[in-house]
Amino acid sequence: STPERIAQVELDLQRALDAGYQLLESGAPAHEAVVAAIHVMEDAPEFNAGRGAALTSDGIAQMDACLMTGDGEVGAVTGVSTVKNPIDAARAVKEQTKHVLFADPTDAEIADWGVATESNEYFITEQRRQSLAEAQSGGDEWEKHGTIGAVARDSSGNIAAGTSTGGITNQMPGRVGDSPLPGCGTYANNDSVAISCTGIGEAFVKEVAAHQVSDRVLYAKEEPVEAAKAALDGVARHHGDGGMIVVPAHGEGAMVFNSEM
Ligand code: ASP
Repeated sequence: STPERIAQVELDLQRALDAGYQLLESGAPAHEAVVAAIHVMEDAPEFNAGRGAALTSDGIAQMDACLMTGDGEVGAVTGVSTVKNPIDAARAVKEQTKHVLFADPTDAEIADWGVATESNEYFITEQRRQSLAEAQSGGDEWEKHGTIGAVARDSSGNIAAGTSTGGITNQMPGRVGDSPLPGCGTYANNDSVAISCTGIGEAFVKEVAAHQVSDRVLYAKEEPVEAAKAALDGVARHHGDGGMIVVPAHGEGAMVFNSEM
């Protein structure tokens, strides 16, 4: 990464935080803040979500997202290729259907949910094209992350978590990672934590990482930071690396990672 790119990423992260905080300060619920923060990062081309998503081996942006609130309600989508802000589709699944997870929802379903769409070209950046070309000529893009997430606690004490991703560069079409799977890459429970993960999704799925952090806090009475480190050690045993952001129902949040990104 160049210093200019790092500066841009930091600026966009600040804009995402500001968007979320502004809502929380005005009394909005946690999930509204999560969605607002995620919108900023999905729209910014630096991150592996929305515009700038990682590309599959056939050069398509195929995105996943999940939104969960601490009351146990959750919605997710996987394999969307035209939803401008995939977190909006996840939210629509949560709020407008009786289901939890849609794989490649139809155009009619997407239109029904009232979420904005774009052609797949909109999501594809030159940087991601280059990353795909490098990966396909033997480079190791597998190790590069960039999935985005947000966690929040509101003035009523409710918590929420959201995650949005393009997956992993050069992944096989149809591959699903941890991000849209409740309990793996995203989880929220008002009695324990809201958590969003990034990293090698397969390892987070095998470890059921997000739910594990919640259980450690809820039943083993571990501090969130301790719980997240332990779950990440489990992820490492499955040869995965990455990071987690955690906001508990009470007390201090945690940010834990074992990868540079
Ligand atoms: N966890 C995401 C996935 O496996 C990728 C990432 O975090 O960069 O799809």
